[in-house]
Amino acid sequence: MSESVISSSAPTISGSFGWNLEHSYARLPAMLFEHLDPTPVKEPRMVVFNYALATELGLNGAALAQQPGVFAGNELPTGAKPLAQAYAGHQYGNFTGLGDGRAILLGEQVTPTGQRLDVQLKGSGPTPFSRRGDGRAALGPMLREFIISEAMHALGIPTTRSLAVVTTGEKIWRQEMQPGAVLTRIAASHIRVGTFEWAAAHGDREALQALVEYTLQRHYPERVGAETPGLALLEAAIERQAALIAQWQCVGFIHGVMNTDNMALSGETIDYGPCAFMDAFDPATVFSSIDRHGRYAYGNQPQIAQWNLARLAEALLPLLHADEKQAISAANAAIESFKPQFENRWLSGVRAKLGLFTEEDGDRALVESLLTWMKEQKADFTNTFRALNRTKTPAQNDAAFTAWHAQWQDRLSRQPQSQEEVQQRMQAHNPAVIPRNHKVEEALEAAVKKQDLSVMQRLLTALGKPYDFSDSQSEYTTPSSGHAPGAYQTFCGT
Ligand code: AMP
Ligand code: MG
Repeated sequence: MSESVISSSAPTISGSFGWNLEHSYARLPAMLFEHLDPTPVKEPRMVVFNYALATELGLNGAALAQQPGVFAGNELPTGAKPLAQAYAGHQYGNFTGLGDGRAILLGEQVTPTGQRLDVQLKGSGPTPFSRRGDGRAALGPMLREFIISEAMHALGIPTTRSLAVVTTGEKIWRQEMQPGAVLTRIAASHIRVGTFEWAAAHGDREALQALVEYTLQRHYPERVGAETPGLALLEAAIERQAALIAQWQCVGFIHGVMNTDNMALSGETIDYGPCAFMDAFDPATVFSSIDRHGRYAYGNQPQIAQWNLARLAEALLPLLHADEKQAISAANAAIESFKPQFENRWLSGVRAKLGLFTEEDGDRALVESLLTWMKEQKADFTNTFRALNRTKTPAQNDAAFTAWHAQWQDRLSRQPQSQEEVQQRMQAHNPAVIPRNHKVEEALEAAVKKQDLSVMQRLLTALGKPYDFSDSQSEYTTPSSGHAPGAYQTFCGT
């Protein structure tokens, strides 16, 4: 592709950085995006760079880590064709037009293994979708997204990734003055439930259809050519979300702001705002300071996912059947399948956590009685599961737990697998290290207030191997002590 077609005034960076950018999204109907450049910043400085991810992308990490301007939007990578994506969304149940108000897609990096991955700058300046926002992001929240998304990846949960965070040399106002920053986010795509809602709300059937075809090709190629593409996409999205939310539930991840614009069609976890991992087990756990009614509480996540998918189904309705009644009935059947799919995924997940290979009818009750005990005891979710693997006989002087433990041992004895196999399975499904709230805050505090990145680097190292356990990781396994349950709050002012 020649440089002259790049609709950009920013200088481009060439050389052997490994950029291999394509722009399939930009061939979709124009109502789905706006071309524009990122707004340059005063003084870009690299804060954290993900060398391993750069390598996976086919990028020359060593060279690019020395180019903070590229990750700030001051210079464009070779072949970039920046755009902001349009989308709508239901936020806390209310429908609004949104769009990338502070993010810009540089293009799709086609990796050495042939994957097509979005390269997006977040915090890159105002766009036509900024509404009253400044288009910028603060350092703390961008580092937080870096830490948690990379932790999720190490846990084996589908997620967007983080390539780099740079500071901008500019201050931005977020309740107080904060250093500005730009995050480079890598994603299977940034197509959201809200992207379909945008096309549907504009009554643009052509755009909707093109988006369906595009999303099938990009994320569900095995379903391309289906008789009813809209239905095929809906069913595929339901399947992936059921699997994803089950994985969240199994590690105690709380997304915090499951608006429809924050649900990706790829099935990746996206938009790390006020998210956090639960310490003490309680389905009512909420961290987000603005989620006053607990809409996005841990225990509500499956229902909310289904609610969001119903909004997707509504958007797709015109493509499901010429007859509206039949379209609605197809949509309903698909949406109703979410719950059993989620339940199955969840049950497989918790079976693995308990070292179970076989299936018995009583398994759900077995798990639920452990969870009930954990809730009553305010037991730490992560550490309780992890400890099960180490204790042959419960040290707990607790009749309810002892009874449960005996039941569980009984259940284990009814499967053919050896104790060693059971232990391996449990170790592989019960992380020792999760991003504990107080450790994340400690790392952010050191980075933002003292320019000390060593605390975050050590945290990232520990989070990189969550299922291993070595003594060096032990400081990361302590629940947030001194914090009453529910006292930890994450803020949406990102
Ligand atoms: P989020 O809560 O991060 O999912 O964002 C919801 C919407 O608000 C999206 O359309 C964002 O692009 C937009 N937004 C968030 N922060 C800003 C900001 N600082 N400037 C402009 N738009 C923003
Ligand atoms: Mg969002």
